[in-house]
Amino acid sequence: MPRYQSSFWLFLILISSLWFLADSLWPKPWGYFAFRNVFNQYSGILAICIMSLAMILAVRPAFLEKPMKGLDKCYRLHKWLGIGALVVATVHWWITKGTKWMVGWGWLERPERGGRPPADSLSTIEAFIRSQRGFAETVGEWAFYIVVAFIGIALIKRIPYSFFRSTHRWIALIYLGLVFHTVILVKADYWTQPIGIVLAVLLVGGTFSAVVSLFRKIGSSRKVEGRISHIAQQGDMLEATVVVPSKWPGHTPGQFAFVTSNAAEGPHPYTIASHWNKKRSTLRFFVKQLGDWTGQLPEYLTPNMPVTVEGPYGCFDFKDTSTDQIWIAGGVGITPFLAQLEALGEHSIDKSSITLLYSHKSDNSALLEQIQHAAALAKVHLVFKSSDQAGRFTESELKTFIKDPKSTSIWFCGPASFGDWVHQQARNAGIPNRHLHQELFEMR
Ligand SMILES: Cc1cc2nc3c(=O)[nH]c(=O)nc-3n(C[C@H](O)[C@H](O)[C@H](O)COP(=O)(O)OP(=O)(O)OC[C@H]3O[C@@H](n4cnc5c(N)ncnc54)[C@H](O)[C@@H]3O)c2cc1C
Repeated sequence: MPRYQSSFWLFLILISSLWFLADSLWPKPWGYFAFRNVFNQYSGILAICIMSLAMILAVRPAFLEKPMKGLDKCYRLHKWLGIGALVVATVHWWITKGTKWMVGWGWLERPERGGRPPADSLSTIEAFIRSQRGFAETVGEWAFYIVVAFIGIALIKRIPYSFFRSTHRWIALIYLGLVFHTVILVKADYWTQPIGIVLAVLLVGGTFSAVVSLFRKIGSSRKVEGRISHIAQQGDMLEATVVVPSKWPGHTPGQFAFVTSNAAEGPHPYTIASHWNKKRSTLRFFVKQLGDWTGQLPEYLTPNMPVTVEGPYGCFDFKDTSTDQIWIAGGVGITPFLAQLEALGEHSIDKSSITLLYSHKSDNSALLEQIQHAAALAKVHLVFKSSDQAGRFTESELKTFIKDPKSTSIWFCGPASFGDWVHQQARNAGIPNRHLHQELFEMR
């Protein structure tokens, strides 16, 4: 199971366990309404904790990159949390709203309300919280409807990415409404228990992240202003070299950066296809014209144009203990390998046997020559396969490069369907899952 999946389930188990330390789903005396009250608390707390972690991940926190093995995996966890929040919040909404409807339809009979302490016996804070309950319920209900719509937009891939991005940032505002809903409606007894402490930490982290997002300050400490020094078309890819100032912290081969060349369009992630050299101070990118924005880049980008570069991010760093590495690239997925080839060529690092399998289109001859040259300097065994002329790599071809599965690792970057095939072959060959590394090019 990939780490983002295990982290998701562990988080759910952690929050649930802490809640069960504080309360029970079998209240005594048992009855539907008594159950509904505690289940409401449980589902509400679980939903807001999931949303808080998703909110924290949305601002690209550097401290979570290493444990999650890269920002691309953090975004995958963010997506899982979004789906989880949708499911749990829907259950929470139904137990609240559905119960009211069922009472209205005559299916359930609401019991007499227990006596409440008189208003003048309450502290100022308790009185304020009580006065806000109705408003907090309304805020929670409407926030739920809007969040469902926004998460739906995020999950329906047919909706253009630019529309998704422009709507998705407003979830931060809705989240702040849900924080208010939680603070007013959560059982006061919880705050002094472990679940309350974890909830408070997540709410503070989530609120801070929401403000950072609303003020468009995501990644601001990792941004530098660069300038395009060279542009060239390479088959169906655009090669762009960007000169960055000394503030750029450097990067390891395989990392990526968010590049903004048009403020209205916003940042797009691209792998840095060059090894860092402080004297040169340049970053090279290869961009495939795959969509709305990248399709316009050949006409839009000009030499000397200023661009903002944010990063570096990612942990696709070729660091492992295996004796043999097999690198597999498809199309523009060659970019992290180009950077590592350059690094190995310049520093002649003593790395055990490396084989690079590159599935490409036949019209990229200049790029193929560059790769051949870099692989020769880096002493990396290179196998090209033109997908137009010779088809895809086969299982038997891949097997010829796997000498000992236990000491072989695979580093893959390319289209998602190619990645699924590589995963399947690695499993068939007995390569341990932890030896399989993949850069996830899709963030949504
Ligand atoms: C870690 C990482 C590294 C990448 N490295 C490269 C690379 O080296 N070369 C390359 O050509 N491509 C790379 N990509 C893919 C590249 O970011 C997208 O192809 C590009 O952003 C598409 O933009 P578009 O508007 O043309 O496409 P659209 O048609 O608008 O979208 C196509 C898909 O691209 C993705 N996408 C679009 N806009 C963004 C955005 N602002 N932020 C994140 N994802 C977006 C979405 O998954 C979307 O579904 C990388 C992606 C990731 C996540």
